[in-house]
Amino acid sequence: MDIYTYWSQTLEMFKKTFDDQVIFDSIFTLLKAREIRDNELIVTIDSIFNIGYVDDYVDQLQDIYNSIAGTNIKLVIMSDNDYQKQFHSPEEVNDIIYEDHLQPGYTFSNFVVGNSNRIAQNASLAVAMKPGVAYSPLFIYSNSGLGKTHLLHAIGNFAKEKDPNIHVLYCTSEEFVNEYIASLSNGNMDSFNRKYRSMDILLVDDIQFIASKESSSEMFFNIFNSLQNDNKQIVITSDKPPKDLKGMENRLVSRFINGLTVTIDTPEFETAKAILKKKIEIQKVDYPINEEVIDFIASHFNNDVRELEGSVKRLLFYKLVFGKDKEEIDLEFALEAFADTYDAKQETGSLTVDSIKKAVAEYYNLTVNQINSKSRTSNIIVARHIAMYLVRTMISDMSFIQIGKEFGGRDHSTVMKACNKVERNLSKDPNYRKAVNDIKKRIS
Ligand code: ADP
Ligand code: MG
Repeated sequence: MDIYTYWSQTLEMFKKTFDDQVIFDSIFTLLKAREIRDNELIVTIDSIFNIGYVDDYVDQLQDIYNSIAGTNIKLVIMSDNDYQKQFHSPEEVNDIIYEDHLQPGYTFSNFVVGNSNRIAQNASLAVAMKPGVAYSPLFIYSNSGLGKTHLLHAIGNFAKEKDPNIHVLYCTSEEFVNEYIASLSNGNMDSFNRKYRSMDILLVDDIQFIASKESSSEMFFNIFNSLQNDNKQIVITSDKPPKDLKGMENRLVSRFINGLTVTIDTPEFETAKAILKKKIEIQKVDYPINEEVIDFIASHFNNDVRELEGSVKRLLFYKLVFGKDKEEIDLEFALEAFADTYDAKQETGSLTVDSIKKAVAEYYNLTVNQINSKSRTSNIIVARHIAMYLVRTMISDMSFIQIGKEFGGRDHSTVMKACNKVERNLSKDPNYRKAVNDIKKRIS
């Protein structure tokens, strides 16, 4: 019989004497016999963090093994990683074959930068230029369709172009979980571990899926730590900030917070326009599109970038089918192209706090985050007060308390004061009155 059989019998026997079934199943079963060297049986476990659980039982396991195998060897337990490092040449670690899953189309050069995403783009670029040095981990969160996935790929593509030998891997946290589960059942834990731990840049998209998956999140934590220790770069995206990741272990959340956290906002009017122009440019459109059309789309289909993209596609498709002989896309034609979506939008377009904030933010070329923020910059304060006032006057049934909550958890008296102030300004300042009316027009 070989050491592997002896070892599985050893575990079987040990199991009978061990009373915590859960620990046995989740930890001890990870122990793998590797080889005998110099009268030492080397047994490994997936991570150094699990060694603490098994350390106290080394002697007992050793005795069982020796009695079954009729040998007199010493049992040594180490992590997979240490085993690879100690006994196998570095080339072997470097030789892992994997797919990076990077999409070449998502680059920094076709990512349009504006107020809504500038910080996230800057941080991503810094990380791509100096992986592991600038900020690790970098944590990017936002609603969907605002460019997180695009930035992750851009980081990977940029770093790869600079150094083709760099190890980069893009995966969604869902793919990570699936691969982890598959490797558990195929007994490929080693190569799974080796692959992830040998990355210079690990890009993990939509981490929220991993949060509630305990054993996967444990595994991720181990890999995360190992990469952090080696000064490798980790970039994570999520639909919410770290502290709101329900089910995510606190120790993981606090690791995330230790890095740099950035967010992406809904594009403001100017950024939306720039993105539209970029998308049109990429499509190599050979007929002019009137500026009014761009304005129209930028102000009506701007919930996220995906919506902007969709509307460009729709417009160009409509031109292809119904406007073959039109020399230019003008507003009239665009209105036709969007007739059904646009009308539907008007009908269902009920007034919300968000739509008001957005309109005000756009008018002042600010982001919604700035409106909600604690910033005391004067133009932000003016915009914030107007937004509060409009919510109070345009949406029925909103109490001052509710409004306070909607605006970054402010006190009801703050909201009352803001509304009074706006009313005073409205009565004495015609320019101010005009601004508020213009915003109102945009909202309705
Ligand atoms: P998320 O991952 O946040 O849901 P994506 O990265 O998938 O968003 O972005 C949705 C689409 O919008 C993608 O096609 C992406 O290329 C595009 N996009 C997002 N932000 C920008 C930007 N600033 N410039 C150009 N395209 C963008
Ligand atoms: Mg995404």
